[in-house]
Amino acid sequence: MAAILPGATIGVLGSGQLGRMFAIAARRLGYRVHTFSPDQDSPTGQVADHEVTAPYDDLEAVAAFARGVSAVTFEFENVPSTTVAALGGAVVVRPSGQVLHVTQHRVREKQFLSGAGLPVARFAVVTDAASLAEGLATVGVPAILKTATFGYDGKGQVRIDRPGHAGAAWATIGQQPAVLEKVVDFACEVSVVGARSVDGDVQHYGVIENTHRRHILDVSVSPARVSAATTEQAVEIARAACTALDVVGVLCVEMFVTHDGAVIVNELAPRPHNSGHLTIDAHVTSQFEQQLRAVCGLPLGSTAARGPAAMANLLGDEWADGEPDWAAALAVPSVSLHLYGKSTPRAGRKMGHLTATAPTADEAERLVRAARAALHPR
Ligand code: ADP
Ligand code: MG
Repeated sequence: MAAILPGATIGVLGSGQLGRMFAIAARRLGYRVHTFSPDQDSPTGQVADHEVTAPYDDLEAVAAFARGVSAVTFEFENVPSTTVAALGGAVVVRPSGQVLHVTQHRVREKQFLSGAGLPVARFAVVTDAASLAEGLATVGVPAILKTATFGYDGKGQVRIDRPGHAGAAWATIGQQPAVLEKVVDFACEVSVVGARSVDGDVQHYGVIENTHRRHILDVSVSPARVSAATTEQAVEIARAACTALDVVGVLCVEMFVTHDGAVIVNELAPRPHNSGHLTIDAHVTSQFEQQLRAVCGLPLGSTAARGPAAMANLLGDEWADGEPDWAAALAVPSVSLHLYGKSTPRAGRKMGHLTATAPTADEAERLVRAARAALHPR
């Protein structure tokens, strides 16, 4: 199929910050962007050419949306499979419905990963109280019970420290199909953002180091401060996952690094990832432009880093004492500010992020943390 060239219109399902940064990248290259979601005046809608507001299960609205664009991609992977089907056969859909089918369901995702020979934590499939008890016997404690669908930022997860707590955990997640996995005693968490083109070319941004707070990504640092052997393993895993999944688009692989430097896959995201936001300021081609290139059937861009970088998320909590002091953060050298246009700063809600670049990863992390601290003058 011929490439979809600048001037064409790209449709995005979902309308959050990932779609917003995608739209900004796409418009810079001369594309038009339409977005579809149940929301109005959304982060993506504010910068798109056209915002459609309808539920994902309004299949007529979905079909009409598809007729108005040359290709459809996703910033929200949890759309129902009927929605993907309603896009119809006439429009390019990347990544494919099959990739979403696997990655939007933790059981299918774990089975895909282990089937592809990639390392995952010990796990069991849970469908009822009995399989949870059985699973706990084989997986052992401590373990984490995660709902199969609709989990993000630690939602739909509960830790089980003792077999006796299984019943309460099962109730907490609403007795839904789930995965039970062993808690990994990790030294650190990392991710690799990969992209795969229509031709099967895979590019990546190296290994990014991630720290979470309250199960939400807090700070990312690139390159990760891990050994060369760990870096090589993590990159190989991401490359293998992109190819085995036959993804066309961006795929982020979240991983744990154990104390002996081994790498275990946590989960996949078939789209740009929060840990890859620093690629906007620190790499030749951002993860969002890379998504665009892949979706349009164009050659992938250079992923070369301009230098080390760090990113700090800005959650709604930053607004607890009123509007943050933006000028103070922007006074920190090499810091850039990204805000997503969300009007209500709820606790735990991702409102924006800061990125800093520096000659070393340590220095980039120091700068970005200093900039975030400067938002709250004493
Ligand atoms: P989400 O979809 O919410 O990102 P994750 O499965 O990535 O769900 O879990 C969120 C965070 O919880 C992880 O980044 C990690 O810090 C912690 N976590 C999840 N699973 C495990 C595990 N098996 N062992 C240790 N920590 C875990
Ligand atoms: Mg995660």
